[in-house]
Amino acid sequence: MHDAPQISPEHKHVTRDVVAQLPKVLLHDHLESGLRGLKGDPAAAIAALQSPEAVEQAVREACEDLLADGVVYAELRISPELYTEQGMTMRRAVDAAVAGLDVPGIDARLILTAMRHLDAVAEVAQLTVDTYGGADGPIVGFDLAGPEEGNALSEHAEALRLLRENWIPTTLHAGSQAGVESIAEAVQLGAVRLGHGVRVFDDFGVDLEGIRPGQVSSWIRDRHIALELCPSMEVRMGVSEQLADHPLVLLQQLGFTCTVNTGDRSERTLTDEFMDLVDTFDYGLEELFDITLKAIQNSFCDEETRQRILETQILPAYEELADDELTEPGEGAE
Ligand SMILES: [Zn+2]
Repeated sequence: MHDAPQISPEHKHVTRDVVAQLPKVLLHDHLESGLRGLKGDPAAAIAALQSPEAVEQAVREACEDLLADGVVYAELRISPELYTEQGMTMRRAVDAAVAGLDVPGIDARLILTAMRHLDAVAEVAQLTVDTYGGADGPIVGFDLAGPEEGNALSEHAEALRLLRENWIPTTLHAGSQAGVESIAEAVQLGAVRLGHGVRVFDDFGVDLEGIRPGQVSSWIRDRHIALELCPSMEVRMGVSEQLADHPLVLLQQLGFTCTVNTGDRSERTLTDEFMDLVDTFDYGLEELFDITLKAIQNSFCDEETRQRILETQILPAYEELADDELTEPGEGAE
């Protein structure tokens, strides 16, 4: 096992240059949201992803962009059903996406996302079963996205059962638009992580002792079910008026397993997200390390890979910075 790097609380100030270079882990990001030249235009991005060559290139460029942002491990979500408008099969799209993962310096994997309001959920679930090669393969899990309101996860209970029976890790979008009932449903249907999950706070009560999680939120916390929080995106979605009111810090204080993600890269990189935390919540290296540790520990790859990334990339980088920080200028630095 590892030791947390020793970071002195007095020396917590981090600059953007430092954050940009920190080894980061990204668990929630959609390919369509970050296409070069088409950021913020998902319709145009989908129109551009209708051939194997385009899908492969887009995945490769996403990996390059993430690597340039200091991301050392990423689970990129692709939505193969959206790439079939000109006749490409979903299987062909997935194979092309896998081919684009070959960027040295970043360990990138794919999560297959199905759209809960469209009609290909069962097919994408089956495709995930067919292409999943175990936790050391390029495809590491399944996800359901799309509008939460009016599209209950229970409508897809059969597809989710197939995934459970085949030991496919599943993360479901829940608790960003709809409230805690969507989170409860996601966990009962087998989600081992929650896409956003931020509205878990709807389940909190207050008594004389302070804020108390209810039955569902206690379960999420006590079972260490990771929340894939995407703070700036969640502010845009109306979870809070501004970042300073986002419940991230409260959730961490209450003991929830919180990861921080871009969700979509139309506006923000992961470095931007981290700098938001530094600027808004006074996060330092210790807090950024905690988020990164939670992310790699809850990634869908195998435990050997997680430990290798932690021990060979994440810990050495933080330890080096911690050493620098502990050495005041002109003090012991000859
Ligand atoms: Zn998402």
